[in-house]
Amino acid sequence: MTQNRKVYLDHSATTPVDPRVVEAMAPFWSEVFGNSESTHAFGLAAASALEEARQTVAGALKCRAAELVFTGSGTEAINLALRGVAWAARQRGDGGHIVTTPVEHPAVSQTVAQLRNLFGFELTLVPVDGHGQVDPDDVAAAIRPDTLLVSVMMANNEIGTVQPVAAIGRICRERGVLFHTDAVQAAGRLPLEPDEMHADLLSISAHKFYGPKGVGLLYVRHGTPLVPALTGGGHERGRRPGTVNVAGAVGLAAALKLAEEIRVAECARLRQLRNQLIAGVLERIPDCRLTGHPTQRLCHHASFAFRGVEGETIVVQLDLLGIAASSGAACAGGEAEPSAVLLALGLAQDWLLGSLRLTLGRATTEADIARVLEVLPGIVERLRAGE
Ligand code: PLP
Repeated sequence: MTQNRKVYLDHSATTPVDPRVVEAMAPFWSEVFGNSESTHAFGLAAASALEEARQTVAGALKCRAAELVFTGSGTEAINLALRGVAWAARQRGDGGHIVTTPVEHPAVSQTVAQLRNLFGFELTLVPVDGHGQVDPDDVAAAIRPDTLLVSVMMANNEIGTVQPVAAIGRICRERGVLFHTDAVQAAGRLPLEPDEMHADLLSISAHKFYGPKGVGLLYVRHGTPLVPALTGGGHERGRRPGTVNVAGAVGLAAALKLAEEIRVAECARLRQLRNQLIAGVLERIPDCRLTGHPTQRLCHHASFAFRGVEGETIVVQLDLLGIAASSGAACAGGEAEPSAVLLALGLAQDWLLGSLRLTLGRATTEADIARVLEVLPGIVERLRAGE
């Protein structure tokens, strides 16, 4: 094991594009380059590739192709889901109450905050327990006669906790409330069928499962009222204007198909390595705890809090040794502020800044885990000693 070996343990931030996905996308840059809305042969070739990609995704999600909307990111898919449903309710003059959780990604939390602050929708955040998990009974209790939407993520990006979305979806269905789930971290790691979760809306993002960046997808159950979040042309059945990124859609579809094919076996492999990592860290480092649920967590996800140390500093020290990790949400980027997720867990003050996330992926080996276990205890010890 050499000192210079690069170890990438930040797969919840993003993943490399699988070479098979690159290959599937290759013809759609310069060869089949038509605008999928054009009616000539160039356009029709692009449109046909786009529809094939949609069919592939529909096969993986076990839904209708017409229920799928390609977007420019997971964030955009989530914005479309939340704004789309809220604005459709407003258009009908219906009630304006939204239920969500304090541990959602900013793509959800900032969007519902804006719906509240600028548009007057009301918001209820259901609490989470010390593992960051929502109790479906609390969701049921939060639903009011004017509730239009519940949004609960499938799995958390910072702490890996998997939410009981099927139970939550069932409650929403019984109460006649729409249910959106942010499945961005779950795709390729958990079964993703909206029917199983009684989800009316589900968002994913290709770059989290070895597909290209800048491509997302929203599942919208047939008949769900949705006002487009962007205005423009009539692309994607009037739900998402803008010339469609055909290469991206092809890439998302290819990546999802591959991820689904290997999901069960790869998750079993990663879970074992991940458990080794968790046990090793907890054993070797004092004043350290696992954050998130001990068992109901994403198979590739390990997250810790260290008392009295800054997670960001650990990340820098690991990086100097060629190990890529993250502290809190990668998307929040470098701020030494306690994350909303850790605050929601009720962690004591001296643990709040000490978060470290290590997320494994297809290239992760036992040697990578051994390398982390070799260097991390010393890093934490030196930082605690003020060196
Ligand atoms: N939701 C969750 C849970 C995420 O982890 C992320 C990205 O980290 C997003 C949404 C946003 O996805 P995208 O990067 O495609 O905008």
